[in-house]
Amino acid sequence: MDYQSVLERIAQDVAPLIGSGTPAAYIPALADVDPRQFGMALADLDGTVYGVGDWQVPFSTQSITKVFALALALAEGGDSVWDRVGREPSGNPFNSLVQLEYENGIPRNPFINAGALVVTDRLQTLTGDASSELLTFLQQESGNPDVGFDAEVAASEHDHGDRNAAVAHFMASYGNIDNPVPALLDHYFWQCSIEMSCADLALAARFLSRHGLRADGSRLLTRSEAKQINAVMLTCGTYDAAGEFAYRVGLPGKSGVGGGIVAVVPGTCTLAVWSPGLDARGNSVAGVAALDRFTTLTGLSVF
Ligand code: GLN
Repeated sequence: MDYQSVLERIAQDVAPLIGSGTPAAYIPALADVDPRQFGMALADLDGTVYGVGDWQVPFSTQSITKVFALALALAEGGDSVWDRVGREPSGNPFNSLVQLEYENGIPRNPFINAGALVVTDRLQTLTGDASSELLTFLQQESGNPDVGFDAEVAASEHDHGDRNAAVAHFMASYGNIDNPVPALLDHYFWQCSIEMSCADLALAARFLSRHGLRADGSRLLTRSEAKQINAVMLTCGTYDAAGEFAYRVGLPGKSGVGGGIVAVVPGTCTLAVWSPGLDARGNSVAGVAALDRFTTLTGLSVF
């Protein structure tokens, strides 16, 4: 398939949507990003990357990092993480507290903030330095040693982190957090601040299209674990819009409030798209539309 032509066609088709929606305002450092940007990249199984628009511009990956943290927690600690977090869509916003009380401090899934805090806590216990482990992994898989933290974004999240702090303390009250909450929050904010381009992300997510194999050919996850992560991305990766995303796009996907989305065609390729304008549920307007166009034009989907 001529992936480059497909991406160029998509860029034309979604051009009217670029700039629609609003960049995340609750993290002030993200509110200043120019919304009129759009990039998309595709990495095939061998690591050849195709791209269009702002596909090489680094942006704040935010919740997309939740996928990589889960993969590392599974690789390091196996199934034990599932004792502490579920695998059901929440039907609620990504930063919601409401289910936690009546579900005894066990978050619905690893891709909402509560679930990601549990996963990062687990990774911290397993490795002693969750955010650095994650950064090293992303540098290795993308092949880009310049992938790094954004200190301004991390500080901005810290300064406006009351809700994440509340979620973490609440789960700690149920015994579902092992590390001191302030240290856990620091790792979580650093994790969310990691900056990558669409090209970096499409490459780094390749273990999900390669059934668990890393860029260097070694095995990160079993074939079954890779399938499980893809399944949770499909059902929970775009929060309370996961049903709509599955309907329109038909691929496992994970979004972040920086405006990025990673999507996987298992056994074929990975995609990363970025445009900062978000819809009401925190997903990139042009990004979802571009992935919708991709699966429609190519017929590549899990369905
Ligand atoms: N850092 C963001 C937060 O914790 C991540 C949320 C997101 O990307 N959906 O609120």
